[in-house]
Amino acid sequence: MENQQMYQALGVSPAVYALGEEVLSDLEQRFREIDRRAEYNQNKVLLAMQRNRVNAAHFAATTGYGYNDEGRDNLERVYAETFHTEAALVRPQITCGTHALTVALSANLLPGDELLSPVGAPYDTLEEVIGIRESVGSLREYGVTYAQADLLPDGTFDYPAIEKAINARTKLITIQRSKGYATRPTFSVQQIGELIAFCKRIKPDVICMVDNCYGEFVETCEPSDVGADMIVGSLIKNPGGGLAPIGGYICGRKDLVERCAYRLSAPGLGQEVGANLGLMPAFYQGFFLAPTVTAGALKGAIFAANLYERLGFRCVPNATESRHDIIQAVELGSREAMVAFCKGIQAAAPVDSYVDPIPWAMPGYDSEVIMAAGAFVQGSSIELSADGPIREPYAVYFQGGLTWYHAKLGILMSLQKLIDAGIVTL
Ligand SMILES: *Cc1c(COP(=O)(O)O)cnc(C)c1O
Repeated sequence: MENQQMYQALGVSPAVYALGEEVLSDLEQRFREIDRRAEYNQNKVLLAMQRNRVNAAHFAATTGYGYNDEGRDNLERVYAETFHTEAALVRPQITCGTHALTVALSANLLPGDELLSPVGAPYDTLEEVIGIRESVGSLREYGVTYAQADLLPDGTFDYPAIEKAINARTKLITIQRSKGYATRPTFSVQQIGELIAFCKRIKPDVICMVDNCYGEFVETCEPSDVGADMIVGSLIKNPGGGLAPIGGYICGRKDLVERCAYRLSAPGLGQEVGANLGLMPAFYQGFFLAPTVTAGALKGAIFAANLYERLGFRCVPNATESRHDIIQAVELGSREAMVAFCKGIQAAAPVDSYVDPIPWAMPGYDSEVIMAAGAFVQGSSIELSADGPIREPYAVYFQGGLTWYHAKLGILMSLQKLIDAGIVTL
């Protein structure tokens, strides 16, 4: 009763609250599984921190060149140990996920090499990195070619096409774990392992890189446990735990990560330079919190799928599917519904809750886009956020939530706004 009154103060009607509770009562088993996985991952991170003797000295700020930055170097050991890799590059100088992927690709592909994506088109921003869309500074400009094997209609790997695409010049294979904003399924770590094994049977020395964005800590193992030579991601998604205000990581084979460091800073300098600017407490603590934060986001995604499916909306993934990333798409069917949904997410935010999101013509997109985000860190998508292009099938993609309770409020508010707009009736 107390809870219901507080929800009412926040703008959620008793009817919406009651429906939410009803949906939740069927999710106990699934939430327990998520908690068990978070428990395992929490201990995995703790073990890595203990083995690397994390102490207060590691939280000290460095400036300038950042030589002998023990906090930074030890954080990289903690990441490497957690993801079971030989080496790691974890830096605030990596500005975002796209940058991390760009460093990993451009450090390990030389003129004449070919890059292969065996999982269809990569994430939007990588089109310009690779040169699929003409762009200054692309890999293509540097003489690196690109090949792609599309997925089969059912979203599985087209092994014959992949085999055909692998040739003498194929140097690196990029595998995107999360569907991102595409309509294909997200791959499980096990599926990724099978794909890597297949590629390495054909070409044992090919480098397999996984774009791990949104996937970290969703399962108890990572692509680096199943043969990936490099895994790459953003610290304003899962592994930053909501506390990292910037940054990216590349974990993997020592020789490959070293090349990444030389590309990120400069040949000859590599991992030795790069001051931490006082960000170590946030990076360490964020990584420590990341398993539980990811679990909260996952609960939110599953709750949303179950709530909205019950109301007749198509959800991807659906209410019962297993999860391999934290993104939830809900097909709302109209512009008005997308606006109402995003208004609810925004209204539930700790920051900018009084702002009304409206669709706008964002540069680089062929339709208007709507976004809701009331985040502590600008653009952070481990925080509760929703967005989508205003076009068929009028799907909002929503993700994050630093706590499960906040994700829950956001979803209830989104439904409340749909009801207030007369789009949904209970
Ligand atoms: C977020 C994301 C990226 C990188 O995006 P940034 O906005 O540059 O951090 C790359 N790939 C996938 C699948 C992503 O989800």
